[in-house]
Amino acid sequence: MASPETARALTVVAIDGPVGVGKSAVARHVATRLGFLFVDTGAMYRAVALRVMALPEHERTEARLAELVGALDIALGLDGSVTLDRHDVTLDIRDESVSRHVHLAADSRAVREALVAKQRALACSRPSVLEGRDIGTVVCPDARWKIYLDASTDERVERRALQLEALGKPVDRASIRRNLIDRDARDRARPWGALRIADDALVLDTTGMTESRVIELLVAVVEAG
Ligand code: C5P
Repeated sequence: MASPETARALTVVAIDGPVGVGKSAVARHVATRLGFLFVDTGAMYRAVALRVMALPEHERTEARLAELVGALDIALGLDGSVTLDRHDVTLDIRDESVSRHVHLAADSRAVREALVAKQRALACSRPSVLEGRDIGTVVCPDARWKIYLDASTDERVERRALQLEALGKPVDRASIRRNLIDRDARDRARPWGALRIADDALVLDTTGMTESRVIELLVAVVEAG
């Protein structure tokens, strides 16, 4: 059996934080710079949510969700693509309706257990950067580096608005703010896998910082060992 020291040396960068803080983009760049595998765990919950949304409401029981998630083949491509039972769902999972319904998957204990097992297997397969809500606390409590990225609500709303503007989509800052606050509250209130800061995490408030500055800082933290 591994000693506690060995277990804590898992070569994983665990990145957690609230909605809209820019975790995915930062984690992806950090992984590329370090030559590590990048695992977007939110994409997995989104992929399962797509399937749960297709079920009639009366079928969304824990037993049915356990069966469903057990049979699903979710694959994350190195290029950021996501496939579900070999169908490309990369764009579908980013739809606003999935953001609003992703809790149907994320609140289920059966779904979380199945996805956490998959995420741990990926983390153990090679040096990795995992990004989500419960990476440092539940998925990889033995990660070598734990980072909690934060930013003010105003800044997160603005970052999201700029992303939508860049995509040529309509921007309603009041609705972005409501959505962000609601999703954070849900993520913090969940009885298992809730968003919280790991006791030994490095907390980085990125308010006022550019994305490239955050990436440089995190790469420096990992390279410092
Ligand atoms: O990061 P992203 O917004 O794509 O994640 C989608 C949703 O999946 C989050 O709002 C959160 O509810 C859930 N999630 C989670 N645990 C993770 C990653 C994401 O519950 N590790």
